Amino acid sequence: MKNRGANHLKRLSAGQLLVIGGLLICQCATNTSSHLTDRGRQIHEAFWNADSLIYGYLLDGTKYETPIFHFRGAKEGPAVLVIGGTHGNEPAGFEAAHQLLEQFSQSPLTKGEIFIIPEANKLADRRNSRRVRVPLGVDKEMGNLNRSYPGNSYSLPLGREALQITELIRERDIDLLFDLHESPVFHLESQDSTGDYHGLGQTLIYTPNEEATWLAMVVLDQLNGTIPPGVKQFSLAPGPIKHSAA
Ligand SMILES: [Zn+2]
Repeated sequence: MKNRGANHLKRLSAGQLLVIGGLLICQCATNTSSHLTDRGRQIHEAFWNADSLIYGYLLDGTKYETPIFHFRGAKEGPAVLVIGGTHGNEPAGFEAAHQLLEQFSQSPLTKGEIFIIPEANKLADRRNSRRVRVPLGVDKEMGNLNRSYPGNSYSLPLGREALQITELIRERDIDLLFDLHESPVFHLESQDSTGDYHGLGQTLIYTPNEEATWLAMVVLDQLNGTIPPGVKQFSLAPGPIKHSAA
């Protein structure tokens, strides 16, 4: 990874990193180029060459190359990583990540730092596809960024990208990771007669450790304070799937 920041590698134990995967329902319009809203496309055009905000590039120099944006507050504080566009057929995730670029440029952080990868699987995002294609005979999930963690250096491109994201988390001592997804069904309306849920829209999927559980509950309360009672309210969902960012 091309990295313009300091390289101070520190290894994290799994328990130190708080991870929340957010699934949102997308109610956004799409456009033909990247499935962003008009606003998202304007943000994309305004930020994509903003060198002063770009920390580095994942898979630099390849057709998969995609930027990592960086905002830093005046005071020391937690480090946060937001990933959008893990799945290209879930535009709510990369639309939200784009809108965060605008938000943090207009309302600077007071403390801590935030890294934002708006188009993690750029080629899939632009094709409205869950995965990128892999060679014939290869497991198609090798083209699914969310089955590629922690990644390795000898893998297909998404495995190498997952490794670069893992290294970013370690090098920058990331405290909290959000990986933004989308679902066609609201979680709270997807319960069947056996009590099982089949949709993950409006959920927070959190790493089941004490800190992340506590934080997920606080975030849930704050989110639901802005949403009328009903199926559109957020809920907590079972732990993340193996080899996802979480
Ligand atoms: Zn997804």
